[in-house]
Amino acid sequence: MSEAVSPRFRSVLDRFAAYKPGKAVTSPDGRSFKLSSNESPHEPLPSVQKAIMEAAANVNRYPDNNATALIDAIAEHAGVSPDCVAVGCGSVGVAQMLLEAVAEPGAEVVYAWRSFEAYPLLVALSGATPVQVPLRDETHDLDAMLAAITPHTRLVFVCNPNNPTGTIVGHDELAAFLDRVPADCLVVLDEAYGEYVRDGRFPDNMELRKGRPNVVVLRTFSKAYGLAGLRIGFLVAHPEVAEAIRKTYLPFSVNSVAQAAGVASLAARGELLARVDATVAERERVHAALVADGWTVPRSEANFVWLRLGDRTAEFSAACDAQGVSVRPFGDEGARVSIGSPEENDAFLAVARAFPHRA
Ligand SMILES: *Cc1c(COP(=O)(O)O)cnc(C)c1O
Repeated sequence: MSEAVSPRFRSVLDRFAAYKPGKAVTSPDGRSFKLSSNESPHEPLPSVQKAIMEAAANVNRYPDNNATALIDAIAEHAGVSPDCVAVGCGSVGVAQMLLEAVAEPGAEVVYAWRSFEAYPLLVALSGATPVQVPLRDETHDLDAMLAAITPHTRLVFVCNPNNPTGTIVGHDELAAFLDRVPADCLVVLDEAYGEYVRDGRFPDNMELRKGRPNVVVLRTFSKAYGLAGLRIGFLVAHPEVAEAIRKTYLPFSVNSVAQAAGVASLAARGELLARVDATVAERERVHAALVADGWTVPRSEANFVWLRLGDRTAEFSAACDAQGVSVRPFGDEGARVSIGSPEENDAFLAVARAFPHRA
């Protein structure tokens, strides 16, 4: 077959490689550990599984397009009124909604790099111009980000804790930054890992949003709430901002099973946050073990650790693969390794210990 394929696509698509599905890796004794996507290692709670099964019986009907029960439950837990909340198909979907609401050719979107790998893709697809500001000491460089803001900047992402480095920006420095960002530019605080933070300097976003209607807090059910497969994210913002963003919602894109699971998960919040505590304890154990083995690892406030391996990243990733541990390598920068169950973490630590890493 050598048919000419002639439909004209947007030139921006040429910049992206086709999606490559991750390959399953297996150890010589047949074990397989997935530490590549920062998921919860736990299956959904029985109460959440029950809500999912019950909702499944009604999928011949369209979902509630307003996601009323879910938004009400989120608002109650966040201590805001429901008109401050918007939901989307994962927080990636909400980020896309935000960009759809502000982006057009000539508009600029500022974010740190390296940060969440979805940002470049979403910004490019939106037609806006990405402006990447290098991290300093594995952390957002807020002064440099401020300097990168121009009259064309419509939106700034602050990924806090940052994926993949796990570092945070603290309340005071973030407040000082927000005071200097033009009021007509949205600042999106992507707190996908907010539940895992134990550092007391972490921003109180309720406080930060007070008197600053351009601040948007982005959260997800995919990590601490363990619902990555169901795709629910949400934002908390000034009611007028939330209203504008809701206009870009792809109708019905938070499906009815997801809505029911989200409500049930908020009802079981205590149990889920106890699981987060266990993951945090594992994170501290993994961090301490790596440091004791001579690795340099930034303090992580999320459910992963970051190894800046430079040009040895691929070699390290292959060593992990060989033991059935899949991690997330990023070019020749480093590898991000999720915190899983104790057994999974031990499998990763064994590979790290055996890998020649000391200078
Ligand atoms: C995992 C992650 C998300 C969550 O994405 P969902 O679409 O909600 O699954 C959002 N932001 C960052 C920085 C993440 O790492």
